[in-house]
Amino acid sequence: MSRTVAVVERILSANDQMALENRSELDAAGVLAVNLMASPGAGKTSLIMATVEALRDEFRIAGVDGDLATSIDADRIAALGVPAVQINTGGACHLDAVMLRGALPQLPLAELDLLLVENVGNLICPSGFRLGVHRNVLVASVPEGDDKPYKYPGMYQGVDSMLLNKMDVLDAFDFDIDYFRRGVEILNPGLAFFPLSCKTGEGLEAWLSWLRDEASAFRAAGGAGYEIR
Ligand code: MG
Ligand code: ZN
Repeated sequence: MSRTVAVVERILSANDQMALENRSELDAAGVLAVNLMASPGAGKTSLIMATVEALRDEFRIAGVDGDLATSIDADRIAALGVPAVQINTGGACHLDAVMLRGALPQLPLAELDLLLVENVGNLICPSGFRLGVHRNVLVASVPEGDDKPYKYPGMYQGVDSMLLNKMDVLDAFDFDIDYFRRGVEILNPGLAFFPLSCKTGEGLEAWLSWLRDEASAFRAAGGAGYEIR
């Protein structure tokens, strides 16, 4: 009869090591970093732009945009007059900590309060790669359909809040908000949920309040003491 001794050991992957370095650098600079994940076309760039417009007098904001190709998104954000860095992943369908590591030196971190990171549009693997940011946010949108939490459960489990964008077109789609939320609730009970429209501005204030609260908590904790959920 054999005996098995299970040793639970946490081994940090190379990506996780790099994520810790990103986190340390952001903490030291006092920059709260938020990773926005979504499927393509959900409105991540529009959300960043609306957030910059609304909060630019309260926070010094910058953006990092991940896409397979082009600098279209970073150009849109830079056009608002805030620092923006484009990461072209060269085919990879997610951002990883090494990519963010390469982008940070291109930003004036000492002069920033808030960094909004737009991940590559994809509901599958971005949740599997830690970046070293402080908060992860999922941007869902009405045209995608209400069944996404059931089909892509992994994406909903590790996030700290969730937006449902494009509420202005709700009447044109068979989107059952209760069905959608029941699916999310099973995966991530009590998740903060903000239905909104970046186009009309409806519902945006609740998201901005959440962000303000996180920024206050981050400042109060002095960066490094800020709890990662
Ligand atoms: Mg975009
Ligand atoms: Zn990927």
